[in-house]
Amino acid sequence: MAKINENYLKLQAGYLFPEIGRRVNEFQKANPGAEIIRMGIGDVTMPLVPSVINAFHEGVDEMSKPETFKGYGPEQGYEFLRNAIAENDYQSRGVDIGPEDIFVSDGSKCDTGNIQEIFSAESKIAITDPVYPVYADTTVMSGKTGNVASNGYFNGIIYLPCTEENHFVPDIPKERPDIIFLCYPNNPTGATATKQELKKWVDYALDNKSIILYDAAYEAYITEDHIPHSIYEIEGAQKVAIEFRSFSKKAGFTGTRCAFTVIPKEVMAFTHKGEPKPLHALWYRRHTTKFNGVSYPVQKAAAAIYTKQGKKEVQEVIDYYMENARIMCENLYEKGFKVFGGKNAPYVWTSPPKKIKSWDLFDKLLKEAHVVGTPGSGFGPSGEGYFRFSAFAPRKNVIEAMNRLKKLDL
Ligand SMILES: *Cc1c(COP(=O)(O)O)cnc(C)c1O
Repeated sequence: MAKINENYLKLQAGYLFPEIGRRVNEFQKANPGAEIIRMGIGDVTMPLVPSVINAFHEGVDEMSKPETFKGYGPEQGYEFLRNAIAENDYQSRGVDIGPEDIFVSDGSKCDTGNIQEIFSAESKIAITDPVYPVYADTTVMSGKTGNVASNGYFNGIIYLPCTEENHFVPDIPKERPDIIFLCYPNNPTGATATKQELKKWVDYALDNKSIILYDAAYEAYITEDHIPHSIYEIEGAQKVAIEFRSFSKKAGFTGTRCAFTVIPKEVMAFTHKGEPKPLHALWYRRHTTKFNGVSYPVQKAAAAIYTKQGKKEVQEVIDYYMENARIMCENLYEKGFKVFGGKNAPYVWTSPPKKIKSWDLFDKLLKEAHVVGTPGSGFGPSGEGYFRFSAFAPRKNVIEAMNRLKKLDL
C-alpha cells in the first residue's frame, strides 16, 4: 500500500491568496460593472527591461546554431553570471563572496523550501510572525512540526512576533532555535533591519551554533544608505548564514525564473556527534543531484542586469515602484492610517484609524472602493489588524485606489 506524506494533511486548507481570489471573483460576479483595482499579490507589473530582453534574444539565437548551441550547463550556474553576481552584489560592497559560493537556481521560493533537506529532521525552526508563508509550510511538509493550533501556530515551530514595539525585527526567543529564517527588507511588513539588529542575531547564531537563513529578495529596493544589503555585511555572518537572492522582484523575473543562494565555505552545521560539516558541500551535492541548471538564455538575460545600461534600466523600474509606494504612504498617512515600510521595500504595511479585523477591512475595501489589498492576518496572527498594500501596480491604479480610499469612512 502506497502511503502518503501525512505532513501535507497538516497544512491549512484556506491558503491566503486563493481565498483572496475567491472573494474577489464572487464580488466581481455579483457586480460585473465594478472596476476592481488589485494591490494585493506580490507580483511585478512592469515588463523586462530592454537590456535583459536583448540578452535573452541573443541567448535564444545562440541555441539555434551548431557552433553556439548549449546542452546541459554547469549545475551551479554559468561562470559569467556567478562572476557578475560576486563582483556587483558583494565585492563592490566590500563583502568577500566569490563565484564558488554562489548557486544559481530557478527561484528563492524553491531554495528557501528545499534548503531544509540538508538539515536534520530534528532541527528546531524559528520563523517570524507575520511571515512569507513558504518557510512555515515547507517546515510542516518536512515533518518538523505537529498540528496547527487554534491560534494559527504550528506546534514545534518557534514563532518570533514582529510588532510595532520591536520595529518588526524579532527579539531573541526563550527557546533555542537551530535554524532561523529572517527576511529583510521584509515581506509583508516592508521593514528593514539595521546592522546592529542583524548583529544581535549573527552573534546569537555564533554562540548557539545556529544557522540563519537570510532571504534578501527585496534587497534592490533599499534606498537608505545605512541599511545593509547583505547579511554578510555583518561580521561573523560568513560562518553562520545562508543568503537567498532573487531576480524576481529586482528585475521583473517572476515569470522568467532566476535566483541564487550563497553559502560561504565556512558555514558549518554539525553531525550527531558534534563534528562540523560545511553546508556548502551538502548543498552542492543536493544541487548537482536534483537540479540541472537554469536555462542558458535566462542566465544570459540575468547577467545583463549587471551591465552599465542594464543597471540603469532596472533602477528606473525600481524607482517607479518606489514612487508608487511613496504616494501610497503619503495618502494613507493623510487618511489617518499608521504606515510602515514603503521606504526600502515595495510593500506598505498599515493599520486603519479605527480598529478593524484584517479580513473585515479587506471586505470593506473590496465592496466600498473596489480595491484589493492583502489582509495582514493572512501572514500570521501578529498581522491581525494590519493590511498590506503592494506598490507593484500601474501608477494610475495607485492614484485611483488612493482617491477611492479617501472617500471611505474608516
Ligand atoms: C517574491 C519573494 C521571493 C522570490 O521568490 P522567487 O521564487 O525567486 O520568485 C522570495 N522571498 C520572498 C519573501 C518573496 O516575497
